Amino acid sequence: MGSSPDVIVVGAGVLGLCVAAELAGRGHAVTVLDPGGPNASSVAAGMLAPALESLLEDVSPERAGLLKRARDLWSAFAETHGLKLHREGAAWRGSDARAAIARLNALGFEARAADGGLITPDDWRIEAAPALAALGRAIGVTVVRARVVSLNGDARRWRIEGDDGRVWFAASVVLATGVAPPIPGLPVEVAATVDAIEPIRGQITAVDTPVPPRVTRAPGVYVSPTTSGVLIGATMEPGRRDLEPDLEESRDRVAAGLALLGRAGPVGQTRVGVRGGTADGLPLAGPTRHAGLHLALAPRRNGWLLGPLVARVVADGIEGRAAMADAAALDPLRPA
Ligand SMILES: Cc1cc2nc3c(=O)[nH]c(=O)nc-3n(C[C@H](O)[C@H](O)[C@H](O)COP(=O)(O)OP(=O)(O)OC[C@H]3O[C@@H](n4cnc5c(N)ncnc54)[C@H](O)[C@@H]3O)c2cc1C
Repeated sequence: MGSSPDVIVVGAGVLGLCVAAELAGRGHAVTVLDPGGPNASSVAAGMLAPALESLLEDVSPERAGLLKRARDLWSAFAETHGLKLHREGAAWRGSDARAAIARLNALGFEARAADGGLITPDDWRIEAAPALAALGRAIGVTVVRARVVSLNGDARRWRIEGDDGRVWFAASVVLATGVAPPIPGLPVEVAATVDAIEPIRGQITAVDTPVPPRVTRAPGVYVSPTTSGVLIGATMEPGRRDLEPDLEESRDRVAAGLALLGRAGPVGQTRVGVRGGTADGLPLAGPTRHAGLHLALAPRRNGWLLGPLVARVVADGIEGRAAMADAAALDPLRPA
């Protein structure tokens, strides 16, 4: 039998770990259960990119505002948890930079013409692997290697069983399992919600070439600097959850990315991650109809950007606090 924390988080991706760190910062004892290994969060480029995501996805002003507020939460969140943010901005190279700048400005973002495109200071960046490691080490967070095989609750508490027979009990459980299938024992309609999450496969490739000063994006490709080299991403392949790299695709994408930098270089390791998405493109974050059962799922291609927002919404729900204004857009019970 395992110990009995206040909250169990199932899944140690960016959403699970942001929720865990937020709750621990509020004084809760949190155990995170995950079998370990790569996940979408560890593969990601770590762009915190409300501006260029809003431009590329052609979102509404309301959605752009939400993405920007989510980015703003990163300042305090990173400081609290000792995470390093990179605020060098991002560059965009496209066919009509003037129209792109006008669109960004209309959505409330700063942008100026540069290098045949634009630069916005509104997009930031974080290094995924060190950030995940730091969140897992937050005081009050215990990460345990276990795959949860059943989850059963009554009005009082949840019983969580691991694949090695260990059992945990907690008043609150947060489901942050990415695109994994529903865990046996979940209430039927929660299982249906989890089942409806769309997998979106993504490939990203490391390249050994001098790092550019900032993320540089163009239609269909981006180049992101990291401390360990350059990442060239990424595909969006809805409906796919297979993890075998497609090397032909990565060769073409890397060539496009290197052309953006005006360089050549050997193709390095291609990694694959699978993001989860909902019909409206926003995550499922907050309480379910079942006492003590909360969701932190399906942030699509912006899981890193949305991490602290999801964490705050879920923690407020667990503590029974008044929900912040953006919580309604993430409510797991919102109409599909
Ligand atoms: C190539 C690529 C590039 C990306 N770039 C960016 C970017 O630049 N910026 C950005 O904001 N987003 C980016 N994303 C999107 C982002 O990575 C995802 O939205 C985010 O990682 C999803 O996080 P998650 O916590 O929901 O899921 P995951 O990271 O998949 O984590 C889910 C975890 O749950 C665990 N789990 C599942 N089932 C169980 C179980 N039964 N018991 C215990 N544990 C379980 C898994 O082991 C896994 O560790 C990118 C994604 C990809 C694929």
